[in-house]
Amino acid sequence: MAGRGGGNGGRVGLEEIVGTIFGKRQELMGDIAEYIIKKRYSEELKLGTAICPVCGAKFTRKGIHERTVETMIGEIRLNSPYFWCENCK
Ligand SMILES: [Zn+2]
Repeated sequence: MAGRGGGNGGRVGLEEIVGTIFGKRQELMGDIAEYIIKKRYSEELKLGTAICPVCGAKFTRKGIHERTVETMIGEIRLNSPYFWCENCK
């Protein structure tokens, strides 16, 4: 006789979910890292201007270029803005 039903099914389901997450942990970590990094850089991307570290003049973004950054969890592609100063170039 099955004494108490109900709880058992849920437990198997949870183990399955945990197993799936564990199996994909590297993939998930990569996704999370990419999300965080892109979020961080998108704030920079939104900036239209920057301050020159050399002369302190304000200058505007000249464009966006894609670059690949190598990290512990693999390569991450980023769109970075590039700036240069008219005074110091
Ligand atoms: Zn400058």
